[in-house]
Amino acid sequence: MMNGKEYIESLRRYKPTIYFMGKKIESVADSPILAPHVNAAAMTYELAHDPKYEAVMTATSHLTGEKINRFTHIHQSTEDLVKKVRMMRLLGRKTGSCFQRCVGLDALCALYISTYDIDQKYGTDYHERFKEYLIYVQKNDLMAAGAMTDVKGDRSLRPHQQADPDMYVRVVEKREDGIVVRGAKAHITGAVNSHEIVVLPTRAMGEKDKDYAVAFAVPVDAEGVVMIFGRQTNDMRRLDGDIDCGNAKYGTVGGEALIIFNDVFVPWERVFHVRRVRFRFRARRNFRHLPQAELWRVQGGGC
Ligand SMILES: Cc1cc2nc3c(=O)[nH]c(=O)nc-3n(C[C@H](O)[C@H](O)[C@H](O)COP(=O)(O)OP(=O)(O)OC[C@H]3O[C@@H](n4cnc5c(N)ncnc54)[C@H](O)[C@@H]3O)c2cc1C
Repeated sequence: MMNGKEYIESLRRYKPTIYFMGKKIESVADSPILAPHVNAAAMTYELAHDPKYEAVMTATSHLTGEKINRFTHIHQSTEDLVKKVRMMRLLGRKTGSCFQRCVGLDALCALYISTYDIDQKYGTDYHERFKEYLIYVQKNDLMAAGAMTDVKGDRSLRPHQQADPDMYVRVVEKREDGIVVRGAKAHITGAVNSHEIVVLPTRAMGEKDKDYAVAFAVPVDAEGVVMIFGRQTNDMRRLDGDIDCGNAKYGTVGGEALIIFNDVFVPWERVFHVRRVRFRFRARRNFRHLPQAELWRVQGGGC
């Protein structure tokens, strides 16, 4: 498991393309505009090494038996869910801000369920693929941004009815070695200082929306990924030092970004389902008619 400093250093291994107010951000680890968000996320790594918080901040991987940061753990019990909420409250108290990793964790948990259920219905092998990915995330202690919200266009129309076909992230090419995706995800928390982006569909898809029904993961610096970092409260004051800018060390919100996928190649081992529409997830038994997006929301509740 990484500690806070190691997490910040780990960001130097990635070269994401990020723009803020028309200018390129060259180094996430060194940008004063991003610093409060990087510091808040670093707290999720730092506290995992504090014996006082070990029980809430860490877990045992059900896949490898190794000790992992709870932000990469798939809930196995009611106790895990309670600990997750305690962890979020602890981090809320320590940072007074958004520590950004909840959506990514919830995306991992949602995909763990949905890949299994899709395989049961269609005889595919998405779940094994996803488990391999999860082990990779756990072993390397990676921060994953959960990217679900499409830009959507006209809210009264389904994805295939939009005047611009790129209003929802979609598959534009299927190749022997993977797929090519195009579109954008909006307001994605912690995206710029994550290691990975985990993409899920934002709504239930119909037959004609098949190309929009896709879940996958790419590193933040995958070719064709461009991020536009959003404006934040008092952001310009950060450039003047920490005077008069509120919660200077950790910021106020999660540092949301627009993530553009400019024909991004995703190898099959990182595609977790594609063109599976009208799928009713197992959680429906408990939560009635939930599309995948809602699967993660029922798991929230700490910040
Ligand atoms: C701080 C912050 C952090 C976020 N982090 C993440 C993240 O990490 N990952 C992620 O995937 N998303 C994230 N989001 C996005 C969030 O999930 C969306 O903003 C939210 O789901 C609403 O979608 P929207 O912004 O497209 O608003 P809209 O869907 O445009 O909604 C705007 C308003 O229009 C109404 N409306 C929408 N559709 C219709 C309709 N058909 N008919 C009538 N009324 C309608 C809505 O009820 C609402 O009042 C974040 C957002 C914020 C603000």
